[in-house]
Amino acid sequence: MHESHDAPADTATLVPDEDAPPRKPFNARGSFVSRCPECRLPRLNCLCPYRVTAESRVRFWLLTHPLEHYKPTNTGRLIGDILPDTQVFTWYRTEPDPRLLALLDDARFAPFIIFPDDQADYAERVVGPDAVEEALAASRIPVFLLLDGTWRQARRIFRRSPYLDRLPVLPLKTRRLSRYRLRKAASSEHLCTAEVAVELLRLSGDLDASGALDDYFEVFNESYASSRRHHQIEAPTAAMRRLLARR
Ligand SMILES: [Zn+2]
Repeated sequence: MHESHDAPADTATLVPDEDAPPRKPFNARGSFVSRCPECRLPRLNCLCPYRVTAESRVRFWLLTHPLEHYKPTNTGRLIGDILPDTQVFTWYRTEPDPRLLALLDDARFAPFIIFPDDQADYAERVVGPDAVEEALAASRIPVFLLLDGTWRQARRIFRRSPYLDRLPVLPLKTRRLSRYRLRKAASSEHLCTAEVAVELLRLSGDLDASGALDDYFEVFNESYASSRRHHQIEAPTAAMRRLLARR
């Protein structure tokens, strides 16, 4: 949810067309790099050999800002590689995805929106980790709804999606510092989307899945950063070796 941290939410109205669907594919730094069509990383250090799957008691649904889909540095997509039950929805301000609305009404699932508890106006919706345990005890599948975009985009999604207003809000409390190196962050205390998922899996006791996603994120991060320096990783890192051993 916090891929980068460009501005506080209250300046969002200064950018009226931010939510418009992109008119052309992402075209910025790195556009002319030769990329793997599968993982979209530069071919120099492709991520595909390290892709593994894991099982978890919880699920993730991503509500992804349209501008985020085209960015190869998006880490939300890593979650679906490791956990195939992950669902990804594109957020549009004017029309919610009917598939998401149907899932939100499905009694098998207990969805939680992952968001900070720093504003008073939704304090009554804030729950703690025990609510996840209660859902499991009631034989419901806890689902973590992640708002995937910049910090400002995530705030916008949260504030402008009335169909999310009834969901409990689960703030993620962690001391982990971000290792994400591909975008500038205002603070190392802001985790990127994949790191948030790693911590939520740990919180829900899915330690194997948490470890696999953590390693996969680390390999993604290292591989991408190395390719930007035109450096090919020769010897597998510890995270690479752990992932290869799972295959
Ligand atoms: Zn690849």
